Amino acid sequence: MIAKIEQLLKEVEALHASNAEELEALRIKFLSKKGAINDLMADFRNVAAEQKKEVGMRLNELKTKAQDKINALKEQFESQDNGCDGLDLTRSAYPVKLGTRHPITIVKNEVIDIFARLGFSIAEGPEIEDDWHVFSALNFAEDHPARDMQDTFFIEAHPDVVLRTHTSSVQTRVMETSKPPIRIICPGRVYRNEAISYRAHCFFHQVEALYIDKDVSFTDLKQALLLFAKEMFGADTKIRLRPSYFPFTEPSAEMDISCNICGGKGCPFCKHTGWVEILGCGMVDPNVLESNGIDSKVYSGYALGMGIERITNLKYQVKDLRMFSENDTRFLKEFEAAY
Ligand SMILES: [Zn+2]
Repeated sequence: MIAKIEQLLKEVEALHASNAEELEALRIKFLSKKGAINDLMADFRNVAAEQKKEVGMRLNELKTKAQDKINALKEQFESQDNGCDGLDLTRSAYPVKLGTRHPITIVKNEVIDIFARLGFSIAEGPEIEDDWHVFSALNFAEDHPARDMQDTFFIEAHPDVVLRTHTSSVQTRVMETSKPPIRIICPGRVYRNEAISYRAHCFFHQVEALYIDKDVSFTDLKQALLLFAKEMFGADTKIRLRPSYFPFTEPSAEMDISCNICGGKGCPFCKHTGWVEILGCGMVDPNVLESNGIDSKVYSGYALGMGIERITNLKYQVKDLRMFSENDTRFLKEFEAAY
């Protein structure tokens, strides 16, 4: 009996299996009810009393070793299986998540697109400007409040250098370097020395348009505005112009559109008037044309400008301006489907 146990112990130590079926066959051979070890267990009762202790110990040793060995082989197969699951080299790659466009960019591109269809081309200029291009060339008086420290960021060491307060400085740069006809649209970031709150920020975005040619009239401006409003806010949109004042246009107007949230019936957004203000515009002041070397007796033009945040608010009802610059991906993700 001892010899038989020794023989089986040697076999168990040398066990190997190259697949799960072979392993199962080994388990049946050694550990099943009709297996070799159980056969020995059955013979145990025939062992002489004085040998029972030793045979019993060796038999237990054999059983434990056989179980351990088969378990070890099993684990080996399982870990190999797991490795294969996690490393399928034939699997196609997971899709890479794309970012989304910022709502300001979406709306800016929409505005540009509408004016591009009217023949306007994009012009850009520096955000750090000099007093001439931001104010003087645009007919701002020396004591105009817009130059005040409260509105404009001046560079301390060079009071002539400012962060542009509007994109009109780009119009100045185009006028001084090109001859009419001029038909440009200037999108860009501008800066004002304002306390940051839900409705004001120290930087925001504008789009301005400038058209200078012979015989440009207020009627042309009105047509461009009406087309823009209908394209941007829907075919039913109405516009109205209210007289206003800007240093660089004469006459000047502010344009309202029928509130696109309530359809003109009145709601908290339009303060129950049915109208919302969206942009400023006017005929280019002859002084501005002359300052930039354009003969105001031959040429005339119109200009208009709007805040992109304002337009975005109207389209998407963003109530807090600060959301635009916080880079909160939960906010930005809402615009995934918008372009
Ligand atoms: Zn309304």
